[in-house]
Amino acid sequence: MKPPRFDYVAPRSLDEALGILAEHGEDTKVLAGGQSLVPLLNFRLVRPAHLLDLNDIPGLDGIRVADGRLVIGAMARQRAVETSGLVRERCPLLADAMPQIGHVQIRNRGTVGGSLAHADPAGELPAVVAALDGELVLRSARGERRLAPDRFFVSYLATAIEPDELLVEARLPVAPARTGTAFVEVSRRHGDFALVGVAASVTVDDGGVCTAAAVALTGVGPTPLAARDAARALVGVKPTPAAIEDVGRRVAAPLTPDSDLHASSDYRKHLAAVLTRRALTRAAARIAEGDLTGERR
Ligand SMILES: Cc1cc2nc3c(=O)[nH]c(=O)nc-3n(C[C@H](O)[C@H](O)[C@H](O)COP(=O)(O)OP(=O)(O)OC[C@H]3O[C@@H](n4cnc5c(N)ncnc54)[C@H](O)[C@@H]3O)c2cc1C
Repeated sequence: MKPPRFDYVAPRSLDEALGILAEHGEDTKVLAGGQSLVPLLNFRLVRPAHLLDLNDIPGLDGIRVADGRLVIGAMARQRAVETSGLVRERCPLLADAMPQIGHVQIRNRGTVGGSLAHADPAGELPAVVAALDGELVLRSARGERRLAPDRFFVSYLATAIEPDELLVEARLPVAPARTGTAFVEVSRRHGDFALVGVAASVTVDDGGVCTAAAVALTGVGPTPLAARDAARALVGVKPTPAAIEDVGRRVAAPLTPDSDLHASSDYRKHLAAVLTRRALTRAAARIAEGDLTGERR
């Protein structure tokens, strides 16, 4: 299939892009890496009157640390994030997740902003942002707003981005000392979207007692799911196998995932418990090994 006809526009500045969206936002689709949008256009599942290409706008692809946050520009390529030393050092959970997104050819073009805006509940990046309770920065000609993941991700492939808004940054907290992380998933073939994935982060004090823990899942509902109450059960105790097993049970218990062509509801629920256990075990082991950068996999 070929896409339907559209007007193509490639603004050279963010202000120009926001001006176009203010006027034509309702009939416009934004093009980032094109890895999800171009197939949708070719299958004519979306039929925008205008296609607004972000690729010529300078300054949207930065990766930096500011105010204790790792700040990733929406147009940062997934591969640039994957190979960034700063990301490995400051936000190892994000570094853990990146190589699991599709194939390297997809990550060469695909962007962080595109993945978050596409909001596939099987996507790794939405789960990382949910686990770490990051901030999504939206800009329009009307101004700027920052949303927590719970407000940003609305449903399957749906976000709170208004037609005149662009996602410009994701801001993630820098990992505290003595933090270990892991992202584990099960997919039918290498490079496929995972059936279920788990992002986990564990922080301990000098005595090895957990001071903070986070778990978020892909593939178990219409949005990434942050299992905050279940993860909190680890705080105040050492991350022993029994304590970790308990969190896995707590994560899976309230879930009611849909069955589909790829996996039954029961199997996804089973994976949620098993993968939570594996992710927390690996995260805790990394603290013990001093491997906090996600470099050894
Ligand atoms: C074969 C294959 C396998 C894949 N496997 C995985 C996988 O395992 N895990 C995974 O997470 N992803 C996977 N993907 C998707 C991939 O990560 C995409 O790159 C990503 O979902 C979209 O990013 P993009 O930059 O290509 O965005 P585009 O395709 O250009 O855009 C996607 C959507 O986001 C909107 N958008 C883009 N940028 C912005 C912005 N800054 N502000 C507002 N709206 C915006 C677009 O209008 C569009 O609706 C796969 C893709 C393919 C083709």
